[in-house]
Amino acid sequence: MGKDVYDELMELLGWEPEEARDFKPELKEGLKKLLVQPEDVKLAVKERLPKYFTLDSPGMRWLLRIWLRDFVRLGCPTPEEKDRNLLIGGIFPNVAMLQCLPFKVADPAIQIHATDWVADHVGEVFFHVGWKYAEAAERAGVGIEQISCSLNKMRIGLHVLGIIPPSIQVIGRCLCDDAPNSAELINTLDGSKSSIAVRVRDTGFEAEMFEPLADEYFAKSLERSIHEVEGWTGVKITPQIQAECVKNMFKCFQAMTKVIEFFKEDPVPLNGNDSVLFNLPLVCPLDVLAPDYMEYYDCLNMIANDCKERVDKGIGVVPKGTPRIASTIIVPFGQPDLVPMFHEAGCSFDFSSGALITKKIGADTTRALMNENLYKAFAEYYCAGEIVLNDVASMHRTQMDQTREFKIDGWFQGLYRPCRCLIQHHYILSKWMEKEGIPSIAPSCDLYMDRDYPPEKMRTMIETFAEVVKRSKAEKEKKQG
Ligand code: SF4
Repeated sequence: MGKDVYDELMELLGWEPEEARDFKPELKEGLKKLLVQPEDVKLAVKERLPKYFTLDSPGMRWLLRIWLRDFVRLGCPTPEEKDRNLLIGGIFPNVAMLQCLPFKVADPAIQIHATDWVADHVGEVFFHVGWKYAEAAERAGVGIEQISCSLNKMRIGLHVLGIIPPSIQVIGRCLCDDAPNSAELINTLDGSKSSIAVRVRDTGFEAEMFEPLADEYFAKSLERSIHEVEGWTGVKITPQIQAECVKNMFKCFQAMTKVIEFFKEDPVPLNGNDSVLFNLPLVCPLDVLAPDYMEYYDCLNMIANDCKERVDKGIGVVPKGTPRIASTIIVPFGQPDLVPMFHEAGCSFDFSSGALITKKIGADTTRALMNENLYKAFAEYYCAGEIVLNDVASMHRTQMDQTREFKIDGWFQGLYRPCRCLIQHHYILSKWMEKEGIPSIAPSCDLYMDRDYPPEKMRTMIETFAEVVKRSKAEKEKKQG
């Protein structure tokens, strides 16, 4: 029998023939449930995966397999998970990893996912089907009045469609208004429960990021949330489980740091879309990696080896000397076309502030994860990055460190109009960066879906900004002689 698109997909991502044979029925069943048709698989194979990711890195192919398996698992749980019938879903922008993982360690039959991320990062980015979930939410009445973030719409749609069963949602209220609102709505739709941990992030401009009162409040709130989920599931999170989760996270963080060091090289060995996928499992729970995350750890080590080989041979995703542009938090992943568009315009758009581990972030995170107490480790860990959970002045200080340490020439502070945080902060960050003499732009773009943004409009904006960054870099180099 000839190959079909599912065989081609697995071959492209480096499955061994025997494993591919075993996985194929699950792949087909899961994708069908998640509304991915054979023509969507064809689109992924022929266009999206080769265009958006560095497929000649074996480590990246492994990582793409991990994400795809997790997406498929969302539609096709293991037999044990089917029997247990309990999914704990972490929701961005929260502290989902350590809110979900301990439950999987305590009871392997519980399914855990970063439901919205996996729907977006695989459903939308690989197969371009995220709009089906969002549209299901819109048809059910979720318009643009209150809940308008497409990430939240995708999650609501997955519940409307019955793809995600009534479940437990763990949420962080630190910057997102839509996530708790969406959770309330999902509760009325199908009875899903939600547990919310709160971080107060408004501190003075000169305040230290580890503002003790805010951290203590956050740690207590996380502890309360985990106790709440313990009550609903009947599962106890012991101090041993806490310590095990923190220890494994720390190991993965160290492996991640090795990969990110290669992003200081010129040319950079992997692209911006790659960096989103290898960075996020540190904060997003993936069912297929739990309980110990060792597959992720091994995969990161393989990616680091690939990077070393590429750097030694001078292989990069752009030519040496290309100006380097970073994005706030992550590159707008729902529009993965932006990365190749920037490359075509002569700039590297391969740096997400959420992934650039500076000396300070490394030291603060290490200190946080030396803590065996889950709640304290957790609270400090999520503040250490100064990416999402902190005030705008801390975010700016971090961006300045990243500019120096990763030799960034310009900033893309993408505005996301439905989001209170991602519209206000990014304007301010952009203005402050310009004051430092570093070109910065704050264009309107949807972080999660490319439905409303015509690519040619983005291309015009990108080409103009790329020229500004190139000129600024050339002028600075001339001044330095
Ligand atoms: S973009 Fe804004 S509204 Fe949407 S999930 Fe993120 S923080 Fe929430």
